[in-house]
Amino acid sequence: MTGNQGRLGFFETPQRDRLTGVLVPPGPLELSVEEVRQLWSFVHGDIMDGSLRRLLRASLGLCPRHAWAYAVVEVELWQAGAGARGGHQPFDVTILYEDLLEHVADGLDRKSGLLHRHPEEVLVPVGPCRICQDLASPDLPGLRMGYANSNTEALTVEANALVHTTTWCLETVGLWRDRVCPDCDPGAPEGAGDPVLLCRFHLAGRGPLPEQLRHAVAGRLREIRGRMRHLTESMTDYGSPAGAVENTSWIEALGFFAGWGLPLYLATDPREAWPAPGSQGTEQGG
Ligand SMILES: [Zn+2]
Ligand SMILES: [Zn+2]
Repeated sequence: MTGNQGRLGFFETPQRDRLTGVLVPPGPLELSVEEVRQLWSFVHGDIMDGSLRRLLRASLGLCPRHAWAYAVVEVELWQAGAGARGGHQPFDVTILYEDLLEHVADGLDRKSGLLHRHPEEVLVPVGPCRICQDLASPDLPGLRMGYANSNTEALTVEANALVHTTTWCLETVGLWRDRVCPDCDPGAPEGAGDPVLLCRFHLAGRGPLPEQLRHAVAGRLREIRGRMRHLTESMTDYGSPAGAVENTSWIEALGFFAGWGLPLYLATDPREAWPAPGSQGTEQGG
């Protein structure tokens, strides 16, 4: 499956492909014990730490597989938290991707000029996925140990069941179904659809981008970020409860950064058009 990489257009260089990772097609993730071990300790790490935050901006978070896996591990395994759900919610994930949405929106809004010839380069990572990197160097001391000696094998089985992630996707599918990146969506005709909805991979493949499209995408990312901030606060002791539009925000954010393969797999039959409940005129025939 090289289709996605072949569409990266003028951004395509072997070095960048390595950094970019590969979009995951609709299907289960099937995480390995080692991946869950790494991600579980990443969930417990301090992502607000300044130097780690800079690295995570350079890599645009995690690669597509590990971005979704990060959310899955947190949502499936985190038992207790503040807010209405009291756990099984993407708290760390929303904090990280809130920051990255702003980072990318700022980059896309930048004026192109001598310093920033191609503002859309902000869509392409300049550093490796941290989890891929840690998995590639398993001899580092300390990494073989699960967080607080937790039983990572049992946690892996639990994470791969995707119970709570599926619930989140099914609860929100009516709101995100018609915001899926048209190039990620096997149900959408190729090349059709609103380019503002493209994920960062497929958007980078269309570069150089017209200024108007860059600003429109930046506006969309800021709008998602606003809802996601509300969602983050709803998971604390002081925040007001989140509604459906806030609950769907993290799926839209990860869809942008990591493609739509997992939610499409969990909540839709990708060959069918899913009209949003309460929306008018969404039937696409077929
Ligand atoms: Zn990775
Ligand atoms: Zn896409």
